[in-house]
Amino acid sequence: MKRTPLVAGNWKMNGGQSLVASMATALAEYQGVADVVVCPPFPYLFQVRDLLGYTGIALGAQNASRATSGAHTGEVSATMLHEMGCRYVLVGHSERRALYHESDDDVAARFQQVLSAGLIPVMCVGETLEEREQGWTMKVVQRQLQTVIDQCGMSGLAGSIVAYEPVWAIGTGRTATPEQVADTHRAIRQFLENCETGAGQSVRIVYGGSVKAANAVALFSSPEVDGGLIGGASLQADEFSNIGAALANTVNPVTSTLT
Ligand code: PEP
Repeated sequence: MKRTPLVAGNWKMNGGQSLVASMATALAEYQGVADVVVCPPFPYLFQVRDLLGYTGIALGAQNASRATSGAHTGEVSATMLHEMGCRYVLVGHSERRALYHESDDDVAARFQQVLSAGLIPVMCVGETLEEREQGWTMKVVQRQLQTVIDQCGMSGLAGSIVAYEPVWAIGTGRTATPEQVADTHRAIRQFLENCETGAGQSVRIVYGGSVKAANAVALFSSPEVDGGLIGGASLQADEFSNIGAALANTVNPVTSTLT
């Protein structure tokens, strides 16, 4: 099964009004080969949407509230994000889990809100270094995915993007090896396939964790890897553009080796 590759830039709490203009020009050429998404901070969504215009680059948000509306000061609802022109929303980013104490249940509730608003969740999963060293990578990732499946059903997860982001590789400059990435993506596909026949082949699984133009080809070359979620390197238009080029040149996610 052919899956359209995707590269998403997570600006985190960085960037500003000037960043997007250069981004729009730099990335437009990859449209059609890969889905390109930028996720600026909330205050810039409106401006970014206008600047992206008809480039085909999609707008994403970095989180959505678990509530629909009402007395939730400081929160932003998925419906609002839809109204702002977003198409994707990151859910369960490790910084949200670690710094803002979002539990698996909390993440699943946000995921449900994103789905209900007609948006595509980018569901972030991944283990800490300690968990990897204990051999618990898939135990952790399965638990994170299962909570969403329990709350939203397999049909909910099947329509989303899964971003495998080992916590120890995010913002650290320490990248998982292409073999570690391919092995974990393959295990995630097998898990999804066991949950629902066909899901292992259809769900897009992207890798995130210190991806740069210099390591992108190696990381994206496995047929298990459908693209990347890029943090720091998405703040430089040239670098992000070169990562998009690396993905476009390794467009191979056709089949994987499920048993
Ligand atoms: C991220 O924030 O999702 C991420 C992968 O960050 P970085 O690329 O900076 O490691």
